[in-house]
Amino acid sequence: MSTSSIPPQSIPMTNHPTSALVPPWRGLVDAHAHPTSYPDPHAYLRQQWHMGLEAVFAAGTSPQDWPHIDALCQVYPMRVWGCLGIHPYWAALAPRAQAQEALDRLASRLAQKSPGICAIGECGLDARYPNLPQQQWVFRAQIDMAMQRKLPLVVHCVKTWHDMQSYLKQHSGYAIFHAFNAGPQIQQWILDQGHFISLGRSLLRTSAPLINPALASRCLIESDNDAGHDEPPMNRLFDLSPLTSTGQLAQNIAKAYKIHMPGAFS
Ligand SMILES: [Zn+2]
Repeated sequence: MSTSSIPPQSIPMTNHPTSALVPPWRGLVDAHAHPTSYPDPHAYLRQQWHMGLEAVFAAGTSPQDWPHIDALCQVYPMRVWGCLGIHPYWAALAPRAQAQEALDRLASRLAQKSPGICAIGECGLDARYPNLPQQQWVFRAQIDMAMQRKLPLVVHCVKTWHDMQSYLKQHSGYAIFHAFNAGPQIQQWILDQGHFISLGRSLLRTSAPLINPALASRCLIESDNDAGHDEPPMNRLFDLSPLTSTGQLAQNIAKAYKIHMPGAFS
């Protein structure tokens, strides 16, 4: 993808107050959430719909998680979309045989093509966790599966960008980098490769990343896991008109996850 049109300046990621009269999240989609981490995922989702959210992309992180993600997709068709993957934290701690078994189970689950399952993830690499070699081979196996199935990858990447860039060189598809918080050089690489970024909790910090305007067409918004936080970060995350429009975000979602939701994003 050409990058010659990138303007020199960046847009600071600021939040501004949301009107109390309008459902603040109307027309928006949560690109990466973990409903299954809540004691009652249905109560959580009802709250999201009440706030105006159109849909939620639910990330599965382990074999224990996947049946629950699958079930939510079936209860809320076109509103809950599922991603199935092995999180680097799980990969770091599992005995090798268990990690291999999880990969086998993931392959057979994906082969079932359950309705609503549209990506592989959450997967990736995280230098804060132990056993990087095992994280690496588990992640690479998931890259292979994504290529075979022509599915996008939902990627968690912390302090492992060098490995990430090298592994994804072999990947003919693209990735959605969730909880994105990297600098301008990585943003440039993402543009060059046609990947997507998903912005989350980092937007709430004063050190929020500067996002190049050229990334507006490759940007998604997510809550990730906000269980245990007093204020739902979505209140502010979804008020991002300085960066891009609701319509643009909806188009980005459809492109990133290769889905078609007629009428859902109007
Ligand atoms: Zn996540």
